[in-house]
Amino acid sequence: MLLKKENGWKQESVDKVRVFDFCKEYKISLDKGKTEREYVRYAIEIAEKNGFVKAETKEQLVPGDKVFYVNREKNVVLAVIGENPITEGLNYVVSHIDSPRIDLKQNPLYEELELAYMKTHYYGGIKKYQWASIPLSLHGVVILANGEKKDIIIGEGEDDPVFTIPDLLPHLAAKFQGERKTGEVIKGEELQIIVGTIPTKIKNSDVKELIKYAVLEELNKAYGMIEEDFISAEFQLVPAFKAKDVGLDRSLIGAYGQDDRICAYTSLKAILDLDGIPKKTAVTFLADKEETGSNGSTGLQSNYLEYFTSDLINRVKGNYSDLDLRKALWNSNALSSDVNAAMDPIFKGVHEAQNAAKLNYGIVVTKFTGSRGKSSTNDADAEYVWSIRNLLNKNGIIWQTGELGRVDEGGGGTVAMFLAQVGIKTIDVGPALLAMHSPFEVSSKLDIYETYRTYKVFFEDMV
Ligand code: MN
Ligand code: MN
Repeated sequence: MLLKKENGWKQESVDKVRVFDFCKEYKISLDKGKTEREYVRYAIEIAEKNGFVKAETKEQLVPGDKVFYVNREKNVVLAVIGENPITEGLNYVVSHIDSPRIDLKQNPLYEELELAYMKTHYYGGIKKYQWASIPLSLHGVVILANGEKKDIIIGEGEDDPVFTIPDLLPHLAAKFQGERKTGEVIKGEELQIIVGTIPTKIKNSDVKELIKYAVLEELNKAYGMIEEDFISAEFQLVPAFKAKDVGLDRSLIGAYGQDDRICAYTSLKAILDLDGIPKKTAVTFLADKEETGSNGSTGLQSNYLEYFTSDLINRVKGNYSDLDLRKALWNSNALSSDVNAAMDPIFKGVHEAQNAAKLNYGIVVTKFTGSRGKSSTNDADAEYVWSIRNLLNKNGIIWQTGELGRVDEGGGGTVAMFLAQVGIKTIDVGPALLAMHSPFEVSSKLDIYETYRTYKVFFEDMV
């Protein structure tokens, strides 16, 4: 074949039953892990079921050992120790488990017109209007005044209440919203959820806002919370609906948070399903804070990747030097596993068709992301691109190349450049989505399966 690109479903080797089966558990993972903390818990649970143990429980690590590290409950790393000396490098598959969403403010609750509302601050790049008038669930953690920590999820159970940001009716929106730009149809400060309407029965002249007080009573009864506890809490609003098949042929999946739990799940499965002992130590790294620039101690701009790699070296070799770490990193390979944009016939003008990714064309290899003149990007070198291309072709993986939109159309970044910064050979590799960053992102089952296969052969064969 002179032409590489072909719709994956045309290939006879594709087993539809196997592809669809694989995606069943993927959908469950999306419903179970709607925040980074929940995803870390989910990952630990299935890692332990598959024989992984906390790294600190093993003083000496030998080839074949399976361990995991947890960074502040928001970032988790799984590793399978390889045969080769660890200073000859590791194979990292790095994705992120935070997704765009709406966080509660630290002092969120107020009452007006006898309605209780909570104020929010959005997280990551969202089109704010998409989050109005849909059911939202509240997920989070609160540390009470006495130090007790509570995990809270409201809105996922069949009988749970949900929350919503009520949009303005179209009858009265023509002037008020009609002249606003898209990014401001709903403004940041207008992203507020309604949380109650019934006043408290308490008779106390100090209590002026009876609805707000009643909301606090509910929270106190259910979780022992008082108003000040919001300060030491992280509450996130996410779409309350579950992952679903999309289309008459069920070839697609619609769900919240597929950027980037699609890569988190497939890389997790790939390391769990490894047969035998890999040559290079295999690492599945699930990061936090990518959507806000990877800052913070659980994001890729922190030193956690170096920190856990040092610890791994120390447990494998029985000693550690800074040079060992530098060598190991510089000899390593990584897939920055993140999603790209799929062409959409409705909005095809933002893409340059010859280089854009398409649904069902398999996993997307993206040499560079960034914006304008390739700024803020790791632009993978041709040699490394070849080694990935060769790996995919050798293993019969369905793949394509992609770029993030036409030149100067916009752009975006991934964690690739932060991996490259410490010397790891890195390239962006992940499936393409429609409606990325929306409450209901759309992916292709075939692409998900090929993503899983890619990460697996990367661990097994990449040297
Ligand atoms: Mn992403
Ligand atoms: Mn994103």
